[in-house]
Amino acid sequence: MSNLFKTSTTPLLIAGPCSIESPEMLRQVALALASMKVDWIRGGVWKPRTRPGGFEGHGEEALRWIRDLKKEMPQLRFCCEVARPEHVELCLRYGVDALWLGSRTVGNPFSVGELCASLQGTHIPVLVKNPMTPDVALWQGAIERIERSGIESIAAIHRGFSMFNNLGYRNHPLWEIPMELRRRMPDLPLLCDPSHIGGKDNLVGELMQTALDLHFDGLMVEVHPSPSCALTDSAQQITPELFLTLVANLKVHQDNNPSELQLLRQQIDSIDSQLLDLLANRLKVSRTIAEVKAENNMAVYQPKRWTEVLQRKLRQAEEMGLDPDFVKELYERIHTESVKVQLQK
Ligand code: PEP
Ligand code: MN
Repeated sequence: MSNLFKTSTTPLLIAGPCSIESPEMLRQVALALASMKVDWIRGGVWKPRTRPGGFEGHGEEALRWIRDLKKEMPQLRFCCEVARPEHVELCLRYGVDALWLGSRTVGNPFSVGELCASLQGTHIPVLVKNPMTPDVALWQGAIERIERSGIESIAAIHRGFSMFNNLGYRNHPLWEIPMELRRRMPDLPLLCDPSHIGGKDNLVGELMQTALDLHFDGLMVEVHPSPSCALTDSAQQITPELFLTLVANLKVHQDNNPSELQLLRQQIDSIDSQLLDLLANRLKVSRTIAEVKAENNMAVYQPKRWTEVLQRKLRQAEEMGLDPDFVKELYERIHTESVKVQLQK
């Protein structure tokens, strides 16, 4: 069987409420999304809450509402979060079409292992959010465990990372982490959840576009008929109407590279080779300097000289229109390598 989350028509859209709050709201949001040809509906049934006392989802009762609605709208497919083996069994019993593993679960290999045991032999599609911490191996490991349990349709969902300073996001996007996952697992469909990254309705649109600019395959967005009354994640949910507008305004990229791009990429490749040649040469000279220092009984690290080099490079960078922070970071890295090489002498 092929991967259900691999579509030729990009992006794959999954939308729906953070939590399924009542049969009426589920029907209302599903009707609105179906009319925009979104046929994957998300909805939380068991809600992981950071602190006690909040709404924790309607559980099995909400699964019954899904089953009833599927009779009325058989073209729709529903996905729910599972965190425990009994969640998997209940979702299967009520005909849920796909499952997702939440961020808190993915970070725990014991929990993932237990879920995999109940997934064995089921063939239900599974979406895997990133763990709370920016640990690519942990994310990859959860996906590999699910692959080993025999599931064919798997996709990853990037929902950002929980950090002490999130710079205005609810969960910091750290885009390099999903990009690294893509490098390691190039055939795996990669979706983005802009709602949990942004945490604010007004950030969702720009995050959706950033994800497409970075070549994500799809989006999972929290959509609620009246976000201000939502029982969970009220600040980040958007109305079906706003979702429709944001989707209509998305710039979806084509992938047939124009010849101009190919030429520019050849230039970049050639510049990159020159950069590596220069770095290799620089380190060669640095090794010779180490010998001279040793002969003259001088210390490897010369702070005065290093401060002068850095200041000169920063002035030069500014004249050339380069970001001084970038050049500083780059030079510090080069200098560290140079010191390391000299110490090995
Ligand atoms: C959710 O999708 O509602 C959710 C709880 O997500 P996450 O696991 O990304 O926090
Ligand atoms: Mn949510």
